[in-house]
Amino acid sequence: MTITDALPLISPTLASWLNDVSRGKFSTPDIATSGEIAYPVLDPGTGRTLANVPISNSDHVARAVRKARAAMDDGRWSEQDPDYREAALLRLAALVERDFDTLVTLEAVDTGKPRAEAALDIHEVTLVLRYYAGWCTKVTGSTIAAPRQFAAQTIREAVGVCVAITPWNYPLPILMYKLAPALAFGNSIVAKPSELAPLSSIYFLELCSEAGIPDGVVSLVLGPGEVGADLVSQPGIDKISFTGSTTTGKAIMRAAAEHPTKVTLELGGKSPHIVFASADLDAAVAGVAAGIWTNAGQVCVAGSRLLVEESVKEIFIQKLVAFTDEYHVGHALDDRSMMGPMISARQLEKAQATITEAQKSGARITTAGTVHSEVGTFLAPTIIDGLDGSHAAHQEEIFGPVLTVDSFGSEDEAATRANSTPFGLAAGVWTDAAGQSTRMARKLNAGTVWVNTYGVFHPTLPFGGTKASGFGRELGESAVEAYTQTKTIVEDIAGRGGE
Ligand code: NDP
Repeated sequence: MTITDALPLISPTLASWLNDVSRGKFSTPDIATSGEIAYPVLDPGTGRTLANVPISNSDHVARAVRKARAAMDDGRWSEQDPDYREAALLRLAALVERDFDTLVTLEAVDTGKPRAEAALDIHEVTLVLRYYAGWCTKVTGSTIAAPRQFAAQTIREAVGVCVAITPWNYPLPILMYKLAPALAFGNSIVAKPSELAPLSSIYFLELCSEAGIPDGVVSLVLGPGEVGADLVSQPGIDKISFTGSTTTGKAIMRAAAEHPTKVTLELGGKSPHIVFASADLDAAVAGVAAGIWTNAGQVCVAGSRLLVEESVKEIFIQKLVAFTDEYHVGHALDDRSMMGPMISARQLEKAQATITEAQKSGARITTAGTVHSEVGTFLAPTIIDGLDGSHAAHQEEIFGPVLTVDSFGSEDEAATRANSTPFGLAAGVWTDAAGQSTRMARKLNAGTVWVNTYGVFHPTLPFGGTKASGFGRELGESAVEAYTQTKTIVEDIAGRGGE
């Protein structure tokens, strides 16, 4: 079944590809499933089925890991010259660019995000691939000042078989944060996309094959969290990189302890967006709006807690509501849409429950923007004000277009409130007072602090969290550490040759 009748913007070629997915027909053997059992993947903007995606069973999962191991052992990728891998990653980036429109449409209907947002995501995919293509030929070791009797050096080698478990909010970019450096440094990788939005990952796997990445080096397993649980429990895995909820992150750490396997966790957040009275308030309004309404707030770094200096709180909220009132909330393929639906009925209900609970606790609830749809899992941008900072709405990740508001009177109070949740992923600071941004950045518990901007991602910028937001860094040079391991080589060079 396809949605071509409902969404004429889906091209016949893409519709035919979706039909192939439903029939379990893939152009690569590295999508590990037989197509016997399938589940419907929905367009959250209409609730219609995009494709019936086959589920991988335990045998498929085990086989994918064995193939990845075999690829490591025979060196079909790991022992190629670095410029061979570089060329393959560049070919992959070129193929993503060739199929840019298709991938944008696919990512948009699968996640619900407007096409303009999906276009930024797919562009980011090409940037990340090209950035790590460059790293293939740049990894170096060192010579060590060991005792003179020895010549000692370190080299960097692939970690081995890597597993990537990725979420539904940024399916292809987050897969790329893991896959591109893993491949650059010679690893094999088995990935499991979220069951809610797996389509761009499936499409991408077919591109990997077309780009000439050898069989078994990149595999995909498909299905719900149990498939992921099965994957992370497999023996023969050397590294797991996970992005998703803190609860699942803990389960993955427990599974990893069984074999001992390296783990990188990029978990949730409750990131504070701090606005001082000295800031350019109009710029801050646009930044705060983008920080929470982008991707309907379903972003790990969503600036979901507004902390605004008391003296400008009322005017700031008025400006924010007026700004947000312009938001056209609608279907991903409607070019007027500035915000789409939430990913699923479950996520929508979770956000609605928090709003209801906040209302019962005496909060002032303001909604803004207009939802232009009778169907789908839409929630209008919502602002919650008037709750104590310890209330669950301020403390727990909502993962929807819901912004809580609190105020502060001094820099220290702003920092204390900002740091008062279990999370530490990101923070935003808007100020024009000299030195204040740096003082604040030093005080904040966050992996990234954005000053007079928000949500800037780039392949060169390391990204990750502290506290319950996880550990390890992705992107930038940090990925060299994450996807290689150091080997020390020591040779006795005491003068036997001259005797
Ligand atoms: P999950 O953490 O459950 O999902 C993330 C990924 O992990 C998905 O691929 C999921 O598969 C997989 N998974 C689930 N259980 C296991 C397991 N035991 N072992 C291995 N992999 C597993 O997030 P949800 O989709 O349930 O969303 C719930 C909440 O998580 C959100 O409300 C939000 O708070 C947070 N979240 C944070 C994200 C971030 O970017 N940091 C992204 C997404 C969610 P599947 O989806 O197929 O079950």
